[in-house]
Amino acid sequence: MIILRTSREIDLLRKANGIVAEVLTTLADHVEPGITTQELDEMAEELIRAGGGVPSFVGYQGFPASTCISIDEVIVHGIPGSRRLKGGEICSIDVGVKYKGYYGDAALSVACGELDDERVRLMDVTNRALANGIDVARAGNYVEDISRAVEETVAGEGFSIVRSFVGHGIGTEMHEDPQIPNFVTGTRGPQLKSGMVFAIEPMINAGTHEVRVLDDGWTALTADGKPSAHFEHSIVIRDGGPEILSMSANSSRSWGELAKR
Ligand code: MG
Repeated sequence: MIILRTSREIDLLRKANGIVAEVLTTLADHVEPGITTQELDEMAEELIRAGGGVPSFVGYQGFPASTCISIDEVIVHGIPGSRRLKGGEICSIDVGVKYKGYYGDAALSVACGELDDERVRLMDVTNRALANGIDVARAGNYVEDISRAVEETVAGEGFSIVRSFVGHGIGTEMHEDPQIPNFVTGTRGPQLKSGMVFAIEPMINAGTHEVRVLDDGWTALTADGKPSAHFEHSIVIRDGGPEILSMSANSSRSWGELAKR
């Protein structure tokens, strides 16, 4: 069942996602060679609590940290730790916040130092796929229209779309109906209505779409070791079109601007 949120609920979701965006905006500026993923995670927890939220990833099915930080060939669900970032790597940061019972969730990939051309293009295509997916998240369209917009953005680029992880509804649970695949499945899925709130999150690999999960049960990486990028926004469908909820109140920089620095 897909829940249609009231304007009061949308205000709370905007607040939760605003904290997420604030954290991502700050963390993106701290992505540089030498910093550890743990340092980024501690910064995130402090900012989330300062904003009046609670980190929602920690404890989720036993996840041990406030953020997922996924470096280069890690697609998603990387666990922060003593690993230091190196120049030339893609650093994908995913943040979840609970605020007064409502969830925020967003992610972006950030360039650590100078990236090679393939990584720059991979990040650009993934960010554009997200933007194009959001653009068709309109009342009257179907979930599959979002999937198709993402798939068509990636087609012809020589990259592959991760199939094992998908976008999702979000609200009073971190993951709600519907699932939002980043590829066309052949079923058009539910029709979109004003008041639906979704996390749209394409994950694109430079090589194979196949995923391997480490023994820690979380770290999901590309089966061929090639890099991956991940961009995510939480949005609400309104009568006039989609509104991005994961926007910082203090910064107008887009994910694309934060990614390239
Ligand atoms: Mg998500």
